[in-house]
Amino acid sequence: MSKGIVSINAENIMPVIKQWLYSDKDIFVRELISNGCDAIRKYRWLVSNNQAEGDDAPDRIDVIADREKGTLTFIDNGIGMTEEEIVKYIAQVAFSGASDFITKYTEQSKGEGAGIIGHFGLGFYSAFMVSDKVVIDSKSYTDAPAVRWTSEDGMEYEIEPSDRTERGTAITLYIDEEDKDFLNLWTVRSTLEKHCAFMPVPIFVSEVAKPEEPKEGEEPKKAPEPQQINDTHPLWMKRPNECTDEDYKAFYRKVFNDFEEPLFWIHLNAEYPFNLKGILYFPRIKNEFTASEGVIKLYSNQVFVADNIKEVIPEFLLLLKGCVDCPDLPLNVSRSFLQNDGYVKKMAAYITRKVADRLVSEFNTKREDYQRYWDDIHPFVKYGCIKDEKFYERVKPALIYKTTSGEYVTLDEYINKNCDTDETKTVYYASDEKRQAQMIRLYNDQGKDVILLDTLIDNNFISFLEYTERDGKVSFKRVDAAADSLTEAGEVSEDARKKLEGLFRKAMADEQVEVQLKPFKDDGLIAMITVDEQNRRFTEMSSRWGGPDMKLPEKRTLVLNDKHPLVKWLQAAEDDAHTETVCAQVADLAEMARQPLVADRMVDFLKRSNELLTQLIEK
Ligand code: ADP
Repeated sequence: MSKGIVSINAENIMPVIKQWLYSDKDIFVRELISNGCDAIRKYRWLVSNNQAEGDDAPDRIDVIADREKGTLTFIDNGIGMTEEEIVKYIAQVAFSGASDFITKYTEQSKGEGAGIIGHFGLGFYSAFMVSDKVVIDSKSYTDAPAVRWTSEDGMEYEIEPSDRTERGTAITLYIDEEDKDFLNLWTVRSTLEKHCAFMPVPIFVSEVAKPEEPKEGEEPKKAPEPQQINDTHPLWMKRPNECTDEDYKAFYRKVFNDFEEPLFWIHLNAEYPFNLKGILYFPRIKNEFTASEGVIKLYSNQVFVADNIKEVIPEFLLLLKGCVDCPDLPLNVSRSFLQNDGYVKKMAAYITRKVADRLVSEFNTKREDYQRYWDDIHPFVKYGCIKDEKFYERVKPALIYKTTSGEYVTLDEYINKNCDTDETKTVYYASDEKRQAQMIRLYNDQGKDVILLDTLIDNNFISFLEYTERDGKVSFKRVDAAADSLTEAGEVSEDARKKLEGLFRKAMADEQVEVQLKPFKDDGLIAMITVDEQNRRFTEMSSRWGGPDMKLPEKRTLVLNDKHPLVKWLQAAEDDAHTETVCAQVADLAEMARQPLVADRMVDFLKRSNELLTQLIEK
């Protein structure tokens, strides 16, 4: 037996590793399994290059929990290690660069530890996070005798001959008191499912259970067969033309446990300029609030790295669900590395471009279908446009708007049909189809379409469009924002307007309200209330972010129909109680056409209406 000590700085390092990884202990499973996969891959490489004699044993990794002995063992039938190799790879090389690691990262947060560990070739040592003792039994593919390495703290070790007879390596962890849960088969399996679900080598889990005493006259029960937990050929590794719709749907159900069918998916398959494979699904989003539940799993050569890494997957795409495999990414990468890496940025841009292109091709080739799921995906697409102008530029041809009559139009289609040759193209919209039904009807009567913008993101989105498309001068106005297209040009008397303004300000008890007098296209309409668009948008946004205290008063205008007999009558009327009642009633009716009255005002309105009706029969 020989003894040794792992490396000069090890005493400093082990406590740091343990402390760092406290929050993310279960990554030791991934580290040991990926070492096993690497060892098997190396062996396969030797065989295919005629440098090792192949045998029939199929590649496999076994993970065996033994509650009685308190051990968790990882066994692979890979390349194995000789004594020299263990000393070299496990005991010496492991800590190369480790002093850097200490000085550079000690100050950083615990959560990043998991990334840093692998970065410095310390993967194997993560075993000590959960163990009192670790034993390696390894038999090299060469003739070298099997060897056992034992260490209790990851620093001092002993080496002796091992009784292992088969090629490969068994790593036995004597699980410490605190981490006994890792001896629980269920815990082991779910940890493996999380990190190793798509590893390229079959992984089997089993448990050494005490055999049950057979009942009288019965055969002793056989121990259950080990179960394979992983899918070694995940769908994203296949070529898109080898996969059916059913394959994609089944994979989605299995990986995301989502039994709603996805709307559609994108199979990413790039070899140049970087290697990237994956499948992104557009989930059926029920409302804007469940939308944040997407999850994109990042893999490196089928090894799970992390969920939702926003440096690789643009943030707005995190509403999607999917798997992305980037073999060229180091398995363990720290966030700060990703943020500064040009390669990662290019990859993110590539993914964004693919998503936009897919949307455009769906729109171009299957417009009907696309329109059907537009209601589900539009908040996500709009959010993406605001977040990333490149995405907007690319997806622009596929941006559509639903009109209140249920059609879907592009901005160009809307403008061509509804806008005159005016310099500024005005797009009329409603934010609440029911409440604004009267205003919508007025526009429709004039032959103008109204689009529906009724989600939280729309306010920001139209401001974004107005800004981005400023050369083309597009402006969005809610149906109650201005009376321009509902009125005719024509001179009106300023004196008459002033008089009416006085009457209405008094009747409405609102000194701020502005009164306009215009001939209406619709003869029957007496008045309407408009609210300045920009002012309203600002108020809505600030009250959303700043709470109710931030609510600013609306800038409202009462527009009166100069052609209407009642308005003509008011122009000549005395300023008395009777006139005031008429004005109050007109103002309330105009308000009701755009939104329900607030409670107090409603009470007054009902009372006044009752009185007016009574007066009618008294006449
Ligand atoms: P890394 O895998 O990041 O290089 P590790 O500490 O996990 O760092 O492993 C160090 C080295 O030990 C590996 O590169 C490999 O050469 C060797 N090794 C570890 N586990 C095994 C194994 N199961 N079979 C063969 N060699 C192994």
